Amino acid sequence: MEDCIFCKIIKKQIPCEMLYEDDKVIAFNDISPQAPVHVIIIPKQHIDDLNCLKQESSELIGHIFMVAREIAGTLGIAEGGYRIVSNCGEQGGQTVHHVHFHLLGGRMLQWPPG
Ligand code: AMP
Ligand code: ZN
Repeated sequence: MEDCIFCKIIKKQIPCEMLYEDDKVIAFNDISPQAPVHVIIIPKQHIDDLNCLKQESSELIGHIFMVAREIAGTLGIAEGGYRIVSNCGEQGGQTVHHVHFHLLGGRMLQWPPG
């Protein structure tokens, strides 16, 4: 999608600190990290948000979770614990409308979120 910042990152039109890439997904450091580890994992296919997922998206979403777990291991936060979050819509706090998952860790995370 033309005006989507994450599609531009996928097409390498804007730079990012890339941590992982395969044919389906990429993962990169969040530009405004909220924890020592804050990675964004996205499908290469543009999907607006969680509401737009279809049954056929299940394998892709499962894959994203496996990639997140692998990155957590690589970055050394698997044992201490981490959080995977996907914000959806205005009240969910979504600001980039290309479905994505935050991998957060490296410090004690608060619960419940604000
Ligand atoms: P959300 O608010 O859940 O939609 O998350 C969007 C996330 O994307 C925020 O945490 C932003 O800091 C992050 N973000 C926005 N632009 C960029 C960028 N160019 N590179 C890396 N992360 C970004
Ligand atoms: Zn997009």
